[in-house]
Amino acid sequence: MTVATLQRNATGFKERNKSYFTAFNNDITPSSIACPESVDKVARLVREAVHCNAEIGVRGGGHTPWKGAANLEDRLVIDMRNLTGVTVNTEKSTVSIRAGERWGNVYETLAAEGLATIGGRVSRVGAIGLTLGGGLSYFSGRHGFVCDAVSNFEVVLASGEIVNANKTTNPDLFTALKGGSNNFGIVTKIDLPTFPLGKLWGGMTVHPGTSYPDAARALKNYVTSPTPDPDAHLLLSMGWAAMMGGELTVLSLYHANHSTVEPGPASLSEFTAIQPRLNSSLREASLVEFTAEQSSFSVDGGRNLYFTTSIKPDLDLLVGVQELFRKAIEPIQGCKDLAFSIVLQPMTAQMLRRSAEAGQNALGIPADDGPYINVLINPVWSESKDDEKIVQTSLDLIEAVDKAAEAKGKAARYRFMNYSYGSQKVIESYGDESVQFLRDVSGKYDPEGFFQKNVPGGFKLGIH
Ligand SMILES: Cc1cc2nc3c(=O)[nH]c(=O)nc-3n(C[C@H](O)[C@H](O)[C@H](O)COP(=O)(O)OP(=O)(O)OC[C@H]3O[C@@H](n4cnc5c(N)ncnc54)[C@H](O)[C@@H]3O)c2cc1C
Repeated sequence: MTVATLQRNATGFKERNKSYFTAFNNDITPSSIACPESVDKVARLVREAVHCNAEIGVRGGGHTPWKGAANLEDRLVIDMRNLTGVTVNTEKSTVSIRAGERWGNVYETLAAEGLATIGGRVSRVGAIGLTLGGGLSYFSGRHGFVCDAVSNFEVVLASGEIVNANKTTNPDLFTALKGGSNNFGIVTKIDLPTFPLGKLWGGMTVHPGTSYPDAARALKNYVTSPTPDPDAHLLLSMGWAAMMGGELTVLSLYHANHSTVEPGPASLSEFTAIQPRLNSSLREASLVEFTAEQSSFSVDGGRNLYFTTSIKPDLDLLVGVQELFRKAIEPIQGCKDLAFSIVLQPMTAQMLRRSAEAGQNALGIPADDGPYINVLINPVWSESKDDEKIVQTSLDLIEAVDKAAEAKGKAARYRFMNYSYGSQKVIESYGDESVQFLRDVSGKYDPEGFFQKNVPGGFKLGIH
């Protein structure tokens, strides 16, 4: 390698490698780690890996929970975290974000100018990894997925060439990268639009588990409203943990354009009316504060996984999810330090239309198929002996939710990559047309299939 790499016994190797979001990735030991701080070095690394037919891992913020998404046993890992930079253009209309950045620094840099952008809700997550998987933002109601807002990707292809992908230059690659993840090259920079932003309204309200049906009803009404508020954003979580004393219902509520703490925004009033309330952090705060707060709810290096599906709204189905959840977790409640949650997030018809209006992406969601509700299952636990049964329980619960949705004619094909487990068929969920398109784009920009065969992490196109 002509670019310096950290070998296993080098100072700093262990620290760098043991810094993923989950233990599953920390437990993998690559042969070496390259930390390029320039785009030219990324290109050289790719050229040399192609030349040697070497397998590589590509690591951004390291927050994909499942094993091997961004780390690779006994192989080279290209760790993008040294390629940093958040630059606002002179007109202050666009921010360029380098591949090593996380959302926290992006928002802090923009806040200094009174600006924000469409990005992740948790400061510690990698900016480019999240965007390449679609990306849900506090501002998705108005703008669609994070990937829809990108105006340019700078990419190192398998040839080592550094290219731009935007509406006019390599437009097919541009479309493919909006949800196509690491299948086409290593992205070294993205450009996103900025907008002025003051304080947000938001925070969390905590309720007993028995409040869940009220929250589910509010969610159903919200997501099916003919005129959903584009500035509102919410997550409904139902969780169980022995250490919390059993079940809790938690609402995370946000609004980008509302100025009084009490009363909150009218569009969220059915949620804020839910009683009893055990706790509330509703307030006005900056995007930097809210995303840092969200970041403080999880720690690195634990046993923590994501699984997902999408359903269409139906009150009985949503209420019934609680019973499916209770039944599923009963046999595993003895697992040490288990906290098991199911999180429901609305994708309004308006959000999905705005996504379609922004231009084609890889996700293959028909513009008029919404609204959807994203279902995220998130177990956290502490002992490796429980891994298998917790994974199986989570997959079974996903299957049970899918079956219940199918029985009501409320199933949705799309799987949100950023919350998917490694065995879930994410690219397939984009639909045949999108899959064929992505394969064609791969054939054009990576004819030997390097990013298919030699970059095994992530969700692949299934062509080699
Ligand atoms: C605490 C937490 C909060 C989250 N919040 C949100 C949220 O608000 N919205 C949302 O949409 N998702 C969210 N996610 C999911 C998150 O977006 C995904 O896990 C995402 O893949 C993380 O990106 P990363 O760069 O941190 O991770 P990595 O695991 O480093 O990368 C993710 C994937 O992208 C590839 N990749 C990374 N960088 C590049 C690059 N430069 N070029 C090519 N491929 C690359 C990697 O190979 C890997 O397969 C959250 C996850 C966690 C753990």
